[in-house]
Amino acid sequence: MANSRFGYVREFEEHDRLIPSTFSVVRIDGHSFHRFSDIHNFRKPNDSRALECMNDAAQFVMQQLHDVILAFGESDEYSFLLRPQSHIYDRRKAKIVTQVVSAFSSAFMYNWSRHFSIPLAYPPIFDGRIITYPLTIHVRDYFAWRQVDTHINNLYNTCFWAIVQQGKKTEREAHNLLKGTVSSQKHDILFKDYGINYNQLNEMYKKGSVLVRDPPSLPQVPSDGAYKEKKRIEKIRKDGIDGTRGDIQTLHVDIIKDVFWNERPWLLA
Ligand code: ATP
Ligand code: ATP
Ligand code: MG
Ligand code: MG
Ligand code: MG
Ligand code: MG
Ligand code: MG
Repeated sequence: MANSRFGYVREFEEHDRLIPSTFSVVRIDGHSFHRFSDIHNFRKPNDSRALECMNDAAQFVMQQLHDVILAFGESDEYSFLLRPQSHIYDRRKAKIVTQVVSAFSSAFMYNWSRHFSIPLAYPPIFDGRIITYPLTIHVRDYFAWRQVDTHINNLYNTCFWAIVQQGKKTEREAHNLLKGTVSSQKHDILFKDYGINYNQLNEMYKKGSVLVRDPPSLPQVPSDGAYKEKKRIEKIRKDGIDGTRGDIQTLHVDIIKDVFWNERPWLLA
């Protein structure tokens, strides 16, 4: 940018930086997707085409931002975990959030026609926020919170739409029927009234989508190898096991219990 007497206005810019060495999560959410899903005739309760379009968009975000080591999506939202060591954009929050939201929105539209035969009626909008979590327990609890939300909403919505679609009730009636019911009662309604075994539903609907990179397959360090070669392989090992490289996998698995995290110790390292 050329210098001029007007350049002083730049001094007014604020750079709100993430505190160093802390985890951060960027969460994006579709704006008025209740309406968006109506207008585009999403299948209820879950339109897999929409979820897969969201997954494609999230995959693009992870390809662009290597410091995003984990992502979790459900409904019209996606959460992206940024590793604490990241120096991306000098850790400037606004730069990071806008980059994620913009990349996600663009990719969502870019991939739309791969999943839907009808054109977009209007450009979808997403909002975004960034939250820092100082402790690994916060990160664990954050992702547990989102996956529990997926489960609660999916159980409710599956009942709600069974009552409307199969039970031929109005949405108001379905809402009233479900008011105050606990989880086990919803399972009963589904099974006894509609022959739906909740446990057999698509894992993507029940658990959401988890995007994580494969650890690269690493060469063994030679015990008697030349010093340079040994150093080179050690460096690959050190750099490689941080979740920033490797192919991105899309999983529909539990991330509340320990197993997922124990299998990927680099995520919380
Ligand atoms: P950064 O990601 O840091 O913003 P950048 O490559 O986008 O990097 P800018 O300083 O924003 O750098 O400059 C945008 C560049 O894009 C211009 O220097 C020019 O090369 C190109 N560009 C943008 N709009 C046009 C246009 N309408 N016609 C021709 N070139 C353009
Ligand atoms: P806001 O702008 O406040 O986020 P919203 O209408 O987007 O409002 P959300 O709480 O984000 O409200 O909920 C998103 C809604 O979008 C869901 O309740 C559901 O109706 C719809 N929706 C999103 N994804 C799907 C999908 N894959 N299949 C069916 N419906 C979906
Ligand atoms: Mg630019
Ligand atoms: Mg520019
Ligand atoms: Mg919102
Ligand atoms: Mg929304
Ligand atoms: Mg939402």
